[in-house]
Amino acid sequence: MMKDATLVALIGRPNVGKSTLFNRLSRRRDALVDPTPGVTRDRHYARVVWEDHPFILVDTGGIDDEDDTITNHIRHQAMLAIEEADIIFFLMDGREGLTPSDVEIVALLRRTEKNVFFIVNKIDSPEIEAGLLTPFWELGVEPLWALSADHGYGLNTLMAGVLPCLEQSEVKDHLPAETMRLAFLGRPNVGKSSMINAIIGQERMVVTDLAGTTRDAVDTLVTRDPYTYLLIDTAGIRRKGKTTDKLEKFSVLKALKALGRCDVALVLIDAEEGVTEQDTKVIGYTQDQGRALIILINKWDLIQNDRRRQEQVLEAVRSAVTFVPFAPVFKVSALTGLGIRRLFPEIGKVYRQFHRRFPTAVLNRLLAEAVERHQPPMYRGRRLKFYYTAQLGTAPPLFAVVANAPKGIHFSYQRYLTNYFRDGLGLDSVPVRLLFRERS
Ligand code: GDP
Ligand code: GDP
Repeated sequence: MMKDATLVALIGRPNVGKSTLFNRLSRRRDALVDPTPGVTRDRHYARVVWEDHPFILVDTGGIDDEDDTITNHIRHQAMLAIEEADIIFFLMDGREGLTPSDVEIVALLRRTEKNVFFIVNKIDSPEIEAGLLTPFWELGVEPLWALSADHGYGLNTLMAGVLPCLEQSEVKDHLPAETMRLAFLGRPNVGKSSMINAIIGQERMVVTDLAGTTRDAVDTLVTRDPYTYLLIDTAGIRRKGKTTDKLEKFSVLKALKALGRCDVALVLIDAEEGVTEQDTKVIGYTQDQGRALIILINKWDLIQNDRRRQEQVLEAVRSAVTFVPFAPVFKVSALTGLGIRRLFPEIGKVYRQFHRRFPTAVLNRLLAEAVERHQPPMYRGRRLKFYYTAQLGTAPPLFAVVANAPKGIHFSYQRYLTNYFRDGLGLDSVPVRLLFRERS
């Protein structure tokens, strides 16, 4: 059963070392960064695996950078983290010593039930640890974690302290087996909540009471025999007045968190407004996290009689999402119900492909066939050899391909093989990944 994604938020004043720590944790060999070409992305979040425990690391300093004063800026980061994160790393600067804004933020963080790690950074060696930590004892928080994000000192100790919290936050969600988890993503007002309501209102769709089973109030469990779906709403917290703008940013974290625990991401695009940069970014997030993807052009009713507009929108969607050619695109309306019934067979198909397993013999035959049809170019005067392949995992389908010189496999040949696997295995609607490895 799938676990909830744990979100670890980094907060602290500018220059305390947040991005240094972020980079150190996210560039580890097992961080599994799998870049999708053609995506504009921000580098403020990453999926990290520490001793088999995956979590999503977010540098909130990068997400929210508009506030006027430094204290306001981190106060906002802290509120955001308290609201959305499971674990908070509050970084302070050991070289600079304790600052008034640290004192204020610590006071704020002490009130949360979340796991907070108070970290004094830039302690580059054990000899200077005691001296640099002393001023921070005044805060009255324990323990204080001494760290050098730059050199790595204290990192293993810190992460050993974090590990139990990671285990604790990996709550299993006790949903019926084979529940398809669907996350609805998109900009505010694109119609996420309306879409979920429209789905719930469908014939034969039965809402199951979720009381006490999941942690998130935004989840709805529905059944339509014989299938069960978890509908995850990622709409930001709505409040009236001035705060709306700021709170919209919360939805980035919500989106990341929802992506960590869904099978299929349904990204909504507004038919009237067309594709925005934020839409492309969100689609990029879905691929960074290897989710299956369906694109919904919502509010189609608004352009139903406007042929030219329809063409424009479809063309804009097509050209914006060339990096996810496998993603089905649907015209829908949460208001009139257009397209919603047709959506469900598609979701089922995508889900099945996403979780499919293949026998190794089938895969090896496919690999041999692909290589025979189209020989790889020579690499440094040597013929590239492919030995065998095996499926490493599902959701998304991931295959290892073992070769004599993985580094010498040109990108275009990697793409050829990936497409060959995609076609040969009937995985036309989901992301497919091949990892090229050397024979050990
Ligand atoms: P951010 O603004 O909080 O993301 O801070 P950065 O990660 O950009 O770091 C700010 C500066 O502090 C950079 O010049 C880093 O090289 C430096 N820095 C970060 N961590 C350490 C550390 O552990 N020791 C020392 N000496 N410098 C550090
Ligand atoms: P969310 O912020 O993404 O959850 O968006 P909402 O579901 O709250 O919808 C925002 C607004 O768009 C509301 O006024 C909805 O009534 C309207 N809306 C949602 N879906 C549609 C649609 O398919 N057609 C039209 N015309 N309006 C829609």
